[in-house]
Amino acid sequence: MDAAHTASTAPILILLGPPGAGKGTQARVLEQKFGLVQLSTGDLLRAAVIAGTDAGKAAKAVMEAGDLVSDAIVINILRDRLAEPDCAKGVILDGFPRTTVQAEALDALLSETGQRINAAISLEVDDREMVTRISGRFTCAGCGEGYHDSFKPTTRAGICDTCGGADMTRRADDNAETVGQRLDAYHAQTAPLISYYARKNALKNVDAMGDIARISKDLAALVAHATA
Ligand code: ADP
Ligand code: ADP
Ligand code: ZN
Repeated sequence: MDAAHTASTAPILILLGPPGAGKGTQARVLEQKFGLVQLSTGDLLRAAVIAGTDAGKAAKAVMEAGDLVSDAIVINILRDRLAEPDCAKGVILDGFPRTTVQAEALDALLSETGQRINAAISLEVDDREMVTRISGRFTCAGCGEGYHDSFKPTTRAGICDTCGGADMTRRADDNAETVGQRLDAYHAQTAPLISYYARKNALKNVDAMGDIARISKDLAALVAHATA
C-alpha cells in the first residue's frame, strides 16, 4: 500500500455478517452519508471474473459452488484496491475479511501505514431469513444499486430508482442450493471473526432484522461515534 495515498486518520470500518445480511445495502448508505468508499471483495471478484483475469479464472467455479476464494487471491485484490487514491477518504469493507488469515493480513497492511480499524460491525440476522433475502435479490448493472423483489422493489418495474437504467441482474450464486453452502462457509470460517474483533475491543453489534431504514439509522449513529 502506498502510504502517501492513504491518510492515517481515514476511517476504516468493517461490516461483518452472513450472505444476505444487508452488508452491501447498508455500505452504500454509509458511503453516501459519511463520504467513504465501499470496498466489496465480492464485487471486485465478480469484476475479475468478467474481465477474465487469472484471479477471476481461479475464482469463478469456487464462487459458483458457494465456497470461499483463496486467501491469497482475495488479499491481493484488496491490497491493490486499498492503494487507490480514493480510499484515502476512508473505507467500508463489505465482505472482507472473511477468514482469520484475511483479518491478520488486514491488520498487517494497516499497521504499515499507521492506520487502525475504527469498528467491526456485526449485522445480526437469523439464518432462516437469509434464503428469502438472497432469493429475491437483484442489482442494477448500471449503478450497482441493490433491490429485492418483496423488501426493496423498484418504484417502476424493471427501472432503477437511482439511475433510471433498465438492466437488472441476478447473481449466479443466489440460488437456494448455493446459499446453504455459503451459510456453512460463513459459520465455519467467518463467524470466528466476531470474537477476533471482540478481543480487540473493535466489535459493535447491530440488530439487522427488520426495516432497512431503521438499521441504517442505528448504523449511522454507531459510525458517527466510532469515527468521531
Ligand atoms: P449482503 O451484501 O450482506 O449479502 P445485501 O445488502 O445484498 O446483503 O442484501 C440482500 C438482499 O436483501 C437484497 O435484495 C436487499 O435488498 C435485501 N435486504 C437488505 N437489507 C434488508 C432488510 N433489513 N430487510 C429485508 N431485506 C433486506
Ligand atoms: P454475500 O455477502 O452475499 O455472500 P459477496 O458478494 O460478498 O456475497 O461474495 C460472493 C462470493 O465471493 C462468496 O461466496 C465467495 O465465493 C467470494 N468472496 C467474496 N469475498 C470473499 C473473501 N473476503 N474471501 C473469500 N471469498 C470471498
Ligand atoms: Zn441504477
